[in-house]
Amino acid sequence: MEILIVEDEREIAEIIQECLESEGFACRVCYDGQSALRLYGEYQPDLIILDIRLPGMDGLEVCTQIRQKPVAHDPYILMLTSRGEEIDRIIGLSTGADDYYVKPFSPRELVARVRALLRRRLRESDPPGYAQRNRSGLIRTKSFTIDLEQHCISRHFEEESAKQLDLSSSEFKLMTLFVKHPGRVWERGQLIEKLWGDDFFGEERVIDTHIARLRKKVEPHLGKPRFIQTVVGVGYKFEDS
Ligand code: CA
Repeated sequence: MEILIVEDEREIAEIIQECLESEGFACRVCYDGQSALRLYGEYQPDLIILDIRLPGMDGLEVCTQIRQKPVAHDPYILMLTSRGEEIDRIIGLSTGADDYYVKPFSPRELVARVRALLRRRLRESDPPGYAQRNRSGLIRTKSFTIDLEQHCISRHFEEESAKQLDLSSSEFKLMTLFVKHPGRVWERGQLIEKLWGDDFFGEERVIDTHIARLRKKVEPHLGKPRFIQTVVGVGYKFEDS
């Protein structure tokens, strides 16, 4: 498991590096956004710890750019912020961050967060089909199986072999919500409320960006969404029949 740490305050970067390396993670450190993008082009870390306040290009921009690069396995991105008010920017701007952490932090808690995110990555690399095991906590539709315990979703569509979907945590929540209620029409505000609760302050259209990203991973034919359908003038619904 490789972790890239992007933090311009060198002392903080060093503390993070030390506590993660002592837990057995391989870490690389860089101090600005440009270097982060360059490094990201050279190797693919499993997780990126990304400070928001960076000289030049800020962390949100770095996050957005990383999410725009198509790769086999999207890295998890944990944003660091020193201010509570940045949290709604992290969530609201749909930059694609998976989690955030407010500084000052306790190294132990940070390690716990990192572990929680990486556990998901380990599960996602399990062989396809393992979600078919007969356990509780599975939700199935014709083309999808959601494993709530393992926190993963697989697609088994027509003739294709089962495919594990690599989803961010908000995409996972969104997809679970849809699959639990096939045919139900959701307004944008309702989806936002379910995803982020009262933490959200911003444009309702933000949800469209998340839907677009989810469709890319879920739909076999992007031009003609089959599962996540737009309901004109209202919002979205999920159909799988
Ligand atoms: Ca900083």
